[in-house]
Amino acid sequence: MEKPNEFSSFAESIASLGTLTKLESAISVAIKNSKVPPKETRKLLKCMNTQEAGNTALFQFMRQLFEKIGMGQLQLIRNDIFRYDFAIEDSPVHKLYPHIKGKKTCYITAESLASFFSKDLGLPGTAEETSCKNAGDPRCEFAISLQPLAVYQMALDEVDKTIINEVMDGQNTEKIAESLDMVEEEALYRMNILKRYKILDDEYNMTEIGETYHKYGEGMGGEEEDFTPPWKDMAEISNAISASTSFAEAFTEATNGEKIWDVEEKDIVNLADEAKKSKSFAELLSKQIKSDDMEE
Ligand SMILES: [Zn+2]
Repeated sequence: MEKPNEFSSFAESIASLGTLTKLESAISVAIKNSKVPPKETRKLLKCMNTQEAGNTALFQFMRQLFEKIGMGQLQLIRNDIFRYDFAIEDSPVHKLYPHIKGKKTCYITAESLASFFSKDLGLPGTAEETSCKNAGDPRCEFAISLQPLAVYQMALDEVDKTIINEVMDGQNTEKIAESLDMVEEEALYRMNILKRYKILDDEYNMTEIGETYHKYGEGMGGEEEDFTPPWKDMAEISNAISASTSFAEAFTEATNGEKIWDVEEKDIVNLADEAKKSKSFAELLSKQIKSDDMEE
């Protein structure tokens, strides 16, 4: 295999650095402007399957937001109660690392997904890239693991609490429907959601988790905030993102300017070596640089 040309590799690193800087400012502006009301997050958490969850206003918004940031088109591919998986076909982020083969590269996408869940949805958790085009996989995939307690607190509302109390009192579905002023099918649908959350077992009796929640979890949280969902101001968010990325662009153009291109090629090779050693520059590109070393 031909060794990648240091010069072009370094030039590409500079270009990637510019794009990463733009992405980072787009992410921070997008997340700052996208707080989602708890009742909308709850709708997503209560979805029984991926298709239903993919159709929520919240997920539609999320897909638009991440596309606007410049990360490609998010698909929701799994929604377990504490775990959400996303896929991006042909992600623009993986293309920032043209010399990396056999390694996952899109940590910035994983981090921004985790940050969206924790800051905008109030659901803290961790994110990792589970498949990556640069690792030879067909597409990039990301798994978000959420803190269970936060999910329970967000997912269960007053109706759920009433159902839990009624079940604790030994009421049957018919009685529960009556006290909720619902038809029995609707009450059953709500009880199936509690089954999915392991609050109720297959016979609609309380599980151990359900009893623990009843004992300790029910009173937590308190008054819930309500405000306009961010998708009502999508144009405003888009403008803020565009403004921040053009600022980042101007900034990286100014800082990456003439000096680098005035020197001789051999100096640039040295500069590339220096850059590999230098902490300040290497920070953003560290994953790329490490992998470049491993390729040789
Ligand atoms: Zn990737």
